[in-house]
Amino acid sequence: MVRGAICGILPAAVALAVARADPDAGIRSPSHTKTSFAKTEQAFFEKSPSSMPASRVIVCWAGPDGRPASPTPAEKLVLDDRTWRRRLSPEAYRVTRGRETERPFCGGGLDQKEAGLYHCVGCDLPLFASDAKFNSGTGWPSFFRPFAEENLVERTDESHGMLRVEILCVRCDAHLGHVFDDGPPPTGRRYCLNSVALVFRLKK
Ligand SMILES: [Zn+2]
Repeated sequence: MVRGAICGILPAAVALAVARADPDAGIRSPSHTKTSFAKTEQAFFEKSPSSMPASRVIVCWAGPDGRPASPTPAEKLVLDDRTWRRRLSPEAYRVTRGRETERPFCGGGLDQKEAGLYHCVGCDLPLFASDAKFNSGTGWPSFFRPFAEENLVERTDESHGMLRVEILCVRCDAHLGHVFDDGPPPTGRRYCLNSVALVFRLKK
């Protein structure tokens, strides 16, 4: 109820700020995207040596200290559409399986300031840590680095007449958001996430 109320009465000034800060504004040049995509493809094949079945990927789970454990093979989570609809909330299904974007300033992850990890809503893989979160002013949870490079796939996204780099969960192919090169140091990257794609777990 609160979420709907907040979204429904977005002030004009905020709406303008949102429009200016919208991830769509971070359109990459084709050459840049090609480079990123090439790196992504290379990384993907490095993750998937020929000896490994296509249904397996390399991931990093969290160790006892909350930091990435050693990379390890994991089964991909492949479910049919009906099962995804049953497992996910309608909004999580719309975003992660339908590659949609939630409205800014509407997700619970934005104001989460406690220490912990953000897991994939589809398969529970840890994707981001609170120590890499920053306030981008865009209205979407933003991070300057992933929990582990292994856990994300980057893919060229030409939808909606734009050229962007989409980020997906390597284990279940959930659409998570997009990544841009206008983030803060030390990486200069801005991983722009949909809150509904993430499940936050407090640090133990
Ligand atoms: Zn996942």
